[in-house]
Amino acid sequence: MARPKPYVLPTAPDAAPAYSELDRPIQFLKGVGPKRADLLKKMGLLSARDLLFHVPHRYEDASTITRIAALEPGMEATIIGRIVSKGVLPTRRGLRIFQAVVRDGSGLIECSWPGQPFLDRLLKKGDLLLLSGTVRFYHGRQFQPREYTIIASEGEDSSEETGAIFPVYPATEGLTHRQVRTLIADNLDGLLESARDEDPLDDELREDAGILPLWKALDSMHRPSSLAEAEQGRRRLAFEELFFLQILHARSRREAVMVREGIAFERRDHLVRPFHKQLPFTLTGAQKRVLKEIGDDMAAARRMNRLLQGDVGSGKTVVALFAMLRAVENGYQGALMAPTEILAEQHARTMVKLLDGLPVGVSLLTGRLSAKQWKEAAYRIAVGDADVVVGTHALIQEAVEFHKLGLVVVDEQHRFGVKQRLALTEMGSHADTLVMSATPIPRSLALTLYGDLDISVLDERPPNRLPVRTALRNESARPKVLAFVREQVERGRQVYFVYPLVDESEKLDLKSATEEFESLRTLFPDRTLALIHGQMPGEEKDRVMRAFGAGEVDILVSTTVIEVGIDVPNATVMVVEHAERFGLSQLHQLRGRVGRGSEESFCILLSPGGEHLERLRIFASTEDGFEIAEADMRLRGYGDLFGARQSGLPAFRFADLEKDAALLQKARGEARRIVDEDPDLERHPLLRKALHARYGERAKLFRVG
Ligand code: ADP
Ligand code: MG
Repeated sequence: MARPKPYVLPTAPDAAPAYSELDRPIQFLKGVGPKRADLLKKMGLLSARDLLFHVPHRYEDASTITRIAALEPGMEATIIGRIVSKGVLPTRRGLRIFQAVVRDGSGLIECSWPGQPFLDRLLKKGDLLLLSGTVRFYHGRQFQPREYTIIASEGEDSSEETGAIFPVYPATEGLTHRQVRTLIADNLDGLLESARDEDPLDDELREDAGILPLWKALDSMHRPSSLAEAEQGRRRLAFEELFFLQILHARSRREAVMVREGIAFERRDHLVRPFHKQLPFTLTGAQKRVLKEIGDDMAAARRMNRLLQGDVGSGKTVVALFAMLRAVENGYQGALMAPTEILAEQHARTMVKLLDGLPVGVSLLTGRLSAKQWKEAAYRIAVGDADVVVGTHALIQEAVEFHKLGLVVVDEQHRFGVKQRLALTEMGSHADTLVMSATPIPRSLALTLYGDLDISVLDERPPNRLPVRTALRNESARPKVLAFVREQVERGRQVYFVYPLVDESEKLDLKSATEEFESLRTLFPDRTLALIHGQMPGEEKDRVMRAFGAGEVDILVSTTVIEVGIDVPNATVMVVEHAERFGLSQLHQLRGRVGRGSEESFCILLSPGGEHLERLRIFASTEDGFEIAEADMRLRGYGDLFGARQSGLPAFRFADLEKDAALLQKARGEARRIVDEDPDLERHPLLRKALHARYGERAKLFRVG
């Protein structure tokens, strides 16, 4: 099977300066000897450029300094003052307090750090401190700093006392942030001068995007006169990060959709129209819009490379089926790859039902087929009797020959590796690709992860669906919850219990699914219970899931393995134990397992509460997956959205996907424009050089199916 070549950027042409002043080893800079150079190396700073890009990680805004004389009890304030005396006080209760008296031009105040006697070693008499904290009343005014920054020590320049923005640099043992600041200040003008000739973003682009030149941005970050100016500097560097990644995405997209010819599917409608007529429901507005986007892609001569994002239950399957029928109308086959056998079987069943009466052959291909069944299916696929093929990764693992593959659909795409996706795409060398995802992720994250794909979003739930009632319960409510479960089971409903871990971890003291399974069994002796977890062999898992789907099991105790796509309409209760251990997006996936039938459904989150309560409340208050994903991203950072599953997430130093959503949009637009105009970046030598320097070999990682 043909594998696509990884995309590697062409080498930089001669036009770009081969060597720059900024490539100088750091030890040739003013104030850096061999010893310093070693310390800087520990921080990963090797060259002059590294030092120039070593920007402050925070700023103290000395422009909002309060004069000590003006401090009043109850105030939150930032002050600057020199230590005039200091010492450690023991208290009767054994707590040791570090105290220092600081002075500015207006007066004195006592500062107190309870429980931090070690500060006595770090703070010296004569040190000039920037302190933020609160003023309280304790034998007079007393300042309780939350943060301190040493601006200067005795006798050192103290021009900061006059105000402005004070940069604080990442430092290391043996090299204080003040020393780093002095080092940078002493070299900055020369470094910026060298950076003037190296801006990878040209005037036109900078103007379009409304961002600063590189040297100006670095200047603004190292010595801003206001926080707003520092932010302008950061914005420029953030834009660059986002833009570079989008350039790589734009290149991959070009490779995927432009370089090889695609199929221009015609709108023949002899299958699509009758199919539409016989659907037992009307399409949602979102489904119609997405079908138009997909239809336009399929009608075009270039290859489709599209991501369909839609919340659990938003109706992606039927959209995929429409697209497959379009291919079949044109004499091609459509293939759908699902992550598990159960899902593949479920899809095949659904499709056969929806296609009833239409002349479309559906074939299922999974590892569960007997050798004879497999042979038959493979034959039907090879000669073209199978118009629609549904399968697991068996589709790519075994030597399956398609007669004429025109469209590839990948369901729950995040469950497959990039390679698996590509392998399926490559089975039809001109085939269109539609990848589907039920993980609603914020748009900025989608553009970062899948920037080379075009994105369609199903953001509307089919009507007439009962909402799932979500309740947040404390451990003490367990008896009530169990009574409720019993009541539901007695009505013939089925129930999920989900646990975060399989085996009891002594440290975390979490209930393990295995153990709880046993205890639930004694509580429901007259009912059928089953256990499913990640360490079970795949076949065993499938067997249990099938039994649950067939209604042979009343209560399914499980770890998160049931997360994906399983459809059991009779299951109406989802109990999540230790809900605080799950991410909101994960909980959302779990909740999507209920509320699939005509009966009212319930999701009960058991949690000891505490700091997680707010998160869980947000979750309980909405069923909108995108809203939940946004909240999750805000609360935990976007890296955690997928847990360990997604590792392809680039780490940004300057960009913040939440804050910089608009900047990202701009970066994507500019990147696509430049790659369209100048695919090999021949007219953008500095950009090409910088891209190489930053991504080098990694460039090829960004090729996504
Ligand atoms: P998902 O996006 O999670 O894969 P499915 O495609 O499995 O969702 O659809 C969930 C359920 O909703 C299915 O039973 C499907 O037949 C039904 N459905 C899909 N579209 C509509 C619609 N427009 N109106 C009513 N029901 C729909
Ligand atoms: Mg689905």
